[in-house]
Amino acid sequence: MESQLEELRSRALSEISSASETKELESVQIRYLGRKGRLTALVRGLGGLPEKDRPRLGRLANAAKRSVEEALRSRRAELAARKGDSPVGEGRFDVTLPGTRPRIGRLHPLTRVLDEIIEIFSSLGFTLEEGPEIESEYYNFDALNIPADHPARDMQDTLYLKNGLLLRTHTSPVQVRVMEKQPPPVRMICAGKVYRADTADASHSPMFHQIEGLMVDRGVSFTDLKGVLNLFATRCFGPRVKTRFRASFFPFTEPSAEVDISCLVCGGRGCRVCGSSGWLEILGAGMVDPEVFKAVGYDHRVYSGYAFGMGIERIAMLRHGINDIRLFFDNDLRFLRQF
Ligand SMILES: [Zn+2]
Repeated sequence: MESQLEELRSRALSEISSASETKELESVQIRYLGRKGRLTALVRGLGGLPEKDRPRLGRLANAAKRSVEEALRSRRAELAARKGDSPVGEGRFDVTLPGTRPRIGRLHPLTRVLDEIIEIFSSLGFTLEEGPEIESEYYNFDALNIPADHPARDMQDTLYLKNGLLLRTHTSPVQVRVMEKQPPPVRMICAGKVYRADTADASHSPMFHQIEGLMVDRGVSFTDLKGVLNLFATRCFGPRVKTRFRASFFPFTEPSAEVDISCLVCGGRGCRVCGSSGWLEILGAGMVDPEVFKAVGYDHRVYSGYAFGMGIERIAMLRHGINDIRLFFDNDLRFLRQF
């Protein structure tokens, strides 16, 4: 009996290890462990043995069964792994496997910053206006007090088109177009792409985005401008940010100012980002030059106004600590997914 058991066990094991398909394993299983299998029959035959031998032979029979079952299991897993199949079984769908999560799109970081800035000025009653990216010299320069011989035309390296038109170098032409269309009061912002003949590097791009604002009415003063820009700075960069107005020059505003905020990195103590000054320049602004009002037919003795403009990329770079403007336009998903 004992030798019979051992012989069956070793034969089963060798058949299992030489099986090269799961079908073969199944027939081995049926041959030895099935209802009419050889091992099963042998175990059934234990009942007819003398009572003193039964417990010992019972244990041996169970051990033989277990070792055959175990060999079947591991050989089945081996064959499944070789096929690249899951051990659950052929042609079956394993609902416990992790799925592929669909990637959800998101807005570009520039769009998000732009939307936020538009929201701030909309809440102050500024309307959103649009204008063409291809402009004439008149709207881009002349109407903004930048005549042909003005050095400002050299300051901005302009991309001219063959037909005498040009790609706008700032969003200011939109202000002129709006003022031509409607009498004061005007309270508007406009945003969009602008173009310069710049070579792309970490801080320059031949195409970037601007947003600018214009307010014209009776009695508008520099104090109003400061109030609006201070409010903008705290809403955009946080309540603790301070502003500083430095005298500057733009052809279309007089007086003009460049506006700084206290450094977002060091809080004003001075660091590498702010060049140890404690301040970061964010925009240009000023009172609208009377020459601009003359060009659109507004009476500069009755009306006054302020204008301001800023680069969206610069604001986004400061807010998110981005050190290369080209990252916005490379469309590298590793960058874009961080926002
Ligand atoms: Zn700093």
